[in-house]
Amino acid sequence: MSADCLFCQIADGRLPARKVYEDDRVLAFHDINPIAPVHILLIPKKHIASLLEIAPEDKELVGHIHMCAQKAAQVAGVEQDGFRVVTNIGKNGQQTVFHLHYHLIGGRQLRWDM
Ligand code: IMP
Repeated sequence: MSADCLFCQIADGRLPARKVYEDDRVLAFHDINPIAPVHILLIPKKHIASLLEIAPEDKELVGHIHMCAQKAAQVAGVEQDGFRVVTNIGKNGQQTVFHLHYHLIGGRQLRWDM
């Protein structure tokens, strides 16, 4: 845990979130500023700053996040029509929260520029 990390605070319940799915290692919750009818964030509860910080011991966790994305997509009802999962990295990736997270976006036709 990182004391001043926004998503660590959501993961441990210090800050509220509209939860979609949760288990011991992963939390999925609605983005506060959605860019589509469905916009869910999936985070590991473990603090990892970005994709660049994923370590060999995190490989199973990262695979598990993908399984959780399947569940979140089912809960949100977008698995039939399709959706997008993306993670932003660093400045050019427009990452604003430095705790690894995957955006699950759907509920409308997406273009490559979203
Ligand atoms: P990034 O730009 O890829 O780092 O994505 C960060 C995301 O977190 C943005 O889509 C924000 O709207 C979202 N966000 C920021 N604060 C909160 C919050 O408190 N709850 C839910 N989502 C948040």
